[in-house]
Parts: sequence; C-alpha cells; structure tokens
Amino acid sequence: MNLYSGHFNRLIEELAALPGIGNKSAQRLAFYIIGMSDARVKHLAETLTEAKAHVRYCRICQNITDTEVCPICLNDRRDHGTIMVVETPQDMAAYERTGKYEGVYHVLHGAISPMLGVGPSDIRLKELMERLKDDSVKEVIIATNSSLEGETTAMYISRLIKPTGIKCTRIASGVPVGGDLENIDEVTLLRALEGRTDM
Ligand code: ZN
Repeated sequence: MNLYSGHFNRLIEELAALPGIGNKSAQRLAFYIIGMSDARVKHLAETLTEAKAHVRYCRICQNITDTEVCPICLNDRRDHGTIMVVETPQDMAAYERTGKYEGVYHVLHGAISPMLGVGPSDIRLKELMERLKDDSVKEVIIATNSSLEGETTAMYISRLIKPTGIKCTRIASGVPVGGDLENIDEVTLLRALEGRTDM
C-alpha cells in the first residue's frame, strides 16, 4: 500500500528500521521531520553524519568517546587494577554519577541472550579477556543487570575469568531484579557495589 510518495515512504522505512521504533512511530517522526524547517533538518542530518564520523569506541574499555582512548582510561588517578564490567555506556554513566567508584570500566555493549540469539561473540567480551592478560588487573567486578541476560552473562564471564586467578566479584543483588542499572538511584548502586561478593 503506497499512500505516500517514494521519498516519504523511504524515510518511514529508514526510521522504522531503528530499534524500538514501530511503523506508527516511524510515520509520526516522518511527518514531524517533513514539518521541520529546512535549517533544522539540515542540522539534524549533519549531526548524524558528524556523530558517526567522530564517535568511536575507546580502544581499552569500549566506552563511547571522541578520542582513541576515553578520559576515564587516560586518568592516572583511577585504579586501573579494578575493572567494572557493565552492559551499556548508560550503566557506566550511572556508576560515574555516584562519584565514589575509582576503578575503570569495561562496556560489553549488550548481554548474552540465547533467546534473542545474542552469543558471547556478539558482545565485547574478547576485548575484556585481552585486557586481563595484563598482570596489573587485580579484580573484575561484574555489574551486569540482574535480568536473566545479565545473570547469564555474569556466570559466563566468571567462568572465563576463574582460570586466570584474577579476583572476580558480582555486585550485590540490592539492585531490583530486571532493573536497568541506569534507572537505579546512586545510594542503591553504591550499596550494591560495597556488598559485592566473590563469584
Ligand atoms: Zn576507555
């Protein structure tokens, strides 16, 4: 069914292909964009292109950054022997907001989910194991979500780390089950960190 012009349909198709945007939302966004001024549309398009051109993953922790190595990994005052493993950059930001965590991070960009067909090689796990070859790493804190995927990922990582002899801990389950780390308040996050247990 082609209610609209080819260009408009293509715009809807592109938007609908984005995660979490169904056909209805895509149409709503498409109408909104067409109604925007030429200058704003140009600015939006340029922002997308510029972001894609300049934003990259930190070579060390895989966080989103503008530089080859992110500011956290470059910071000498942080404890580079403690690595907190999180699912997303948003989770990392949540822990950064507490201002109390002094170690560094590793961002997996997802979690293992057999149901959704996400395997260990689909997240940034290889990069984590590569980092653990460095003797200076003393502890890996697994701070994946307490969802089924997060727990599966935590178990999988702990099994990989065991043979290395590096201490591997899991944040306490004061974090509500299924809760995304980024939506949890700072006190709860800190309590979960302080109450971490060996895996
Ligand atoms: Zn980094």
